[in-house]
Amino acid sequence: MNQNTLVAIVCLLLGVGGATAYFTLTAPAPAPEHGANAGAYCNEHKIDEADCPFCNPAIIEQRGHCDAHQVAEALCYQCNPKLMAAFKAEGDWCGGHNVPESQCEQCEFGAVHQGPDAKPKL
Ligand SMILES: [Zn+2]
Ligand SMILES: [Zn+2]
Ligand SMILES: [Zn+2]
Repeated sequence: MNQNTLVAIVCLLLGVGGATAYFTLTAPAPAPEHGANAGAYCNEHKIDEADCPFCNPAIIEQRGHCDAHQVAEALCYQCNPKLMAAFKAEGDWCGGHNVPESQCEQCEFGAVHQGPDAKPKL
């Protein structure tokens, strides 16, 4: 008997209550609460709402250009590594080159992905 069968039987025996408990236990922990002054947290992109260029595109204009990395500052994951999770949540991530797909010069120039977690574009 494998593990999944066992879980299914346990859930069956415990009924809906058991299933609910199972999902409650396996659900991801909620994002840590920030203080009232910290502002809202963007659960979708795992970043402070005020720093989320996807929910708050106005900051792309407001923050200007990152001269060091030649991208919009608000979209610069090198200056703000928290953005990496945001890009991944948005599906804008090049696993082959480990950069946001929208900033991947190597893909832009037609190179083939060779990384271990390379995956075809959607
Ligand atoms: Zn967001
Ligand atoms: Zn930068
Ligand atoms: Zn790429």
